[in-house]
Amino acid sequence: MQRATSLFLLLLLFFCSCAVPIYVLPDTDTPEARETIKEGAAYLDVKLKFVEEKDDAVITIQFYKPQPGGVCGEEVRSGTCMRRVRSCNSSITTGHEIGHALGLKHVRKIHPDPEQDKKLRTDNLMDPIAPAANPTVTDEQKTIVKVYATGLATCKRHL
Ligand SMILES: [Zn+2]
Repeated sequence: MQRATSLFLLLLLFFCSCAVPIYVLPDTDTPEARETIKEGAAYLDVKLKFVEEKDDAVITIQFYKPQPGGVCGEEVRSGTCMRRVRSCNSSITTGHEIGHALGLKHVRKIHPDPEQDKKLRTDNLMDPIAPAANPTVTDEQKTIVKVYATGLATCKRHL
């Protein structure tokens, strides 16, 4: 059964130009916000399409100003076929959170000692402390995102 599902997803992947439907919450939907989202998704090689109805989306995105010292971005499971992303205005943070929404996990655990943690940081987009510039994404991560995005879009269609 698992194998049949995987085969189905792989076939869909090749025959579908599936773009991930994204809905930007109206209070933060600006041309700049959409550009930030596109740049973030580009790190993952994932195609997006912006939709005007929340119900048509599989990812909703909202931008917000973080509290001083607070977290800059989060991804929340919001129903089986829906993911919700909150992000500060940075394409790297947005790409990181879209990565979570599309099945990616952090590439390492945060070390409890901040000094040690600095030494362990990577330039991968999915480092728990996302890099400030030029993040890398592996081919394996890009494949996971594509398969996951296809599954999410399919799941939505069958509800
Ligand atoms: Zn994260």
